[in-house]
Amino acid sequence: MTEEKSDKVDMEKIVSLSRRRGFIFPSSEIYGGLQSCWDYGPLGVELKRNVKEAWWRAMVQERDDMVGMDASIMMHPKTWEASGHLEGFTDPLVECKNCHLRWKADELEGDKCPSCGGELTEPRLFNMMFKTFMGPVEDDASVVYLRPETAQGMFVNFQNVLNTTRKRLPFGIAQIGKAFRNEITTGNFIFRSREFEMMEIEYFVKPGTDEEWFDYWLEERLNWYIKLGIDKDHLRFREHSKEELSHYSRRTVDINYLFPMGWAELEGIANRGDFDLSQHAKFSGKELNYFDEETKEHFVPCVVEPSVGVSRPVLAFLCDAYDEEPDKDEIRVVLRFHPDLAPMKVAVLPLSRREPLVEMAKDVYAGLRKCWAVAYDDAQSIGRRYRRQDEIGTPFCVTVDFQSLEDNQVTIRERDSMNQIRLPVEELQETLTAKLAGEDLFVLPPGGTVWLEETKK
Ligand code: ATP
Repeated sequence: MTEEKSDKVDMEKIVSLSRRRGFIFPSSEIYGGLQSCWDYGPLGVELKRNVKEAWWRAMVQERDDMVGMDASIMMHPKTWEASGHLEGFTDPLVECKNCHLRWKADELEGDKCPSCGGELTEPRLFNMMFKTFMGPVEDDASVVYLRPETAQGMFVNFQNVLNTTRKRLPFGIAQIGKAFRNEITTGNFIFRSREFEMMEIEYFVKPGTDEEWFDYWLEERLNWYIKLGIDKDHLRFREHSKEELSHYSRRTVDINYLFPMGWAELEGIANRGDFDLSQHAKFSGKELNYFDEETKEHFVPCVVEPSVGVSRPVLAFLCDAYDEEPDKDEIRVVLRFHPDLAPMKVAVLPLSRREPLVEMAKDVYAGLRKCWAVAYDDAQSIGRRYRRQDEIGTPFCVTVDFQSLEDNQVTIRERDSMNQIRLPVEELQETLTAKLAGEDLFVLPPGGTVWLEETKK
């Protein structure tokens, strides 16, 4: 992390908005919370699902060189011997002799406890994998681990996927799933959690082409964030030095984001060479290689791995979308989410709670809900309701008023420009579909006239 801070928003504002509006709560809050574990509320779960869906769509669905899978969280313990996690997934820690807090030795500035100033022990290696027991007996033979990454599930299934899909190199396997790490340095909201979801790709290539593919994936992954609305000035690459490289890596580059606390790792892209497949072949005694039909050769493919925890992009998208602007005597808070990420795509707002207005608004609401996550809000003034939707990033509000009962038209109000148009109810779904897909169908000043009639002329 560097000294430079985001000038856009501070973390307290994001934490407070997330709590207040039901994006993210501390885990088991009524018992005082559980450190570094978080619960996603009604809006948070939609946002997180949208992030995962956007990733899956771009990385799996729209590509013909990628397939998905979903491995179990608990794996044969030998997996972790082969991967090097049992031996290498460790942090050197020191413990305060006074308050017993543990600290990462390489992150400490002095030789005293940062919390109480107490004396520290010598560094000791601490494995970050969570351990548990499988079956009725709690002995060494029944120890299993909660996976600290999803990657290994894809390596051990390499042959299964190859045999069942008949993919040719280069091709990738993608997976989204939970991972667990007993992290020591926590804090910064959901940035580093002990239980989190990962979105990982293992992209298998011919040895010798791995460096090219590595560069390809750097650009591909960077562009994914930019397409979904992150300001490109808030993103940058950070190359790992030779000393810093993990035991399996030939080259690693992080995509860093300018979080409120400074530049920090959003995603890591590693060239893992043939380390993983070779190790699993050695430990399992099973061949994990590829037969090239053209050259008639058997070889172990190399792997390029783009790996990201879902909560980091969730936090980055929240921070980058956050905006405040003057609004008469108040401040308008807007989350300018990309429509694909917005938890609610549309809100239906009846101008009054009186019948038959409500009946019409409920009909509109029922129709739109078949297509998207839609909110319905009839409490307080229309101005306040618009602000509430702005604050959670809803791209469009549809207002049903008394005139709607006569002309069967409703008003659409756009979040970012606050422009409004009126249009017939039967055109609503088609128009919103086009607008949510980013089409510039209308740009009218507030109070503009009917879009449909204007364009039909
Ligand atoms: P850091 O040092 O920032 O904790 P790392 O270098 O240990 O991360 P990797 O092992 O490279 O992380 O994991 C790949 C990706 O997984 C990271 O870029 C990050 O997006 C995510 N990640 C790792 N640990 C966590 C965590 N504890 N909470 C949330 N996401 C995580």
